[in-house]
Amino acid sequence: MVEYFTTISSSHRTLILAIGLVLCWGLEGAIPLFQFQYNKVKHSITNLFFTLTTVIVNLLFATILLTTAQWSVENKWGLLYLLSLPIWLHGILAIMIMDMIGAYWVHRLMHIIPIGWKLHRIHHIDTKVDVTTALRAHPAESILRALFLLIGILIAGAEIWMVMVYQSLSALNAQFEHSNLKLPKWFDKFLEIFIVSPDMHKVHHSRKQFETDSNFANIFSVWDRVFGSYKSVKKTDTIEYGLDEYQNEKDDTIKSLLSNPFRK
Ligand SMILES: [Zn+2]
Repeated sequence: MVEYFTTISSSHRTLILAIGLVLCWGLEGAIPLFQFQYNKVKHSITNLFFTLTTVIVNLLFATILLTTAQWSVENKWGLLYLLSLPIWLHGILAIMIMDMIGAYWVHRLMHIIPIGWKLHRIHHIDTKVDVTTALRAHPAESILRALFLLIGILIAGAEIWMVMVYQSLSALNAQFEHSNLKLPKWFDKFLEIFIVSPDMHKVHHSRKQFETDSNFANIFSVWDRVFGSYKSVKKTDTIEYGLDEYQNEKDDTIKSLLSNPFRK
């Protein structure tokens, strides 16, 4: 696994994303949470456009991230090098630290800082949250996330394969948690002990701001519990998605979403 992820190609990384999309799309057909009255293909074109820009930003940043990881290994730079850990434990902790900084904290800050919210809000405008919403991020948000991941790599002391495993798991769980899925309640609750489950993340897409400003985590649910932002609701199938100020269909076109951060 170490060897595979150290030398993983861009096409394999994209393939992992495509497999996640197909699997979750299939599950949504079998056990949907909402019976959305929408054109799923039309909806997905907008979201897949932003998925594509996210992928491009990540591929552009790949060299920088990998060089940073290489440098951190060569110089034994990073908190985890202070401890002499077995490689598997170093890997798990590095992935957790990258998730905490490169997903949880950057996400939470985008909800707190006005300019961050301008970049991030197109993710929340979607009123039909499904698997394709997962990587619907403005390119500027994708750049910001990549910079935070860079910080995470340096703080943790992550090797190249750890960064690649992290990014793959991050994309797969983002797809899973956004999927329009109604898992058995007990199973969703069980998953939520460890990872962000579909029900847990749906609360974050609620139109009610006190719910939107909760459950920021991406892979590990522990960050919301540790940093006091965890929220649970009894029924997720009554949640209304979206933002009050963007309920118009014309707010949800590629052109409008691209220029959204530059508007008041
Ligand atoms: Zn958010």
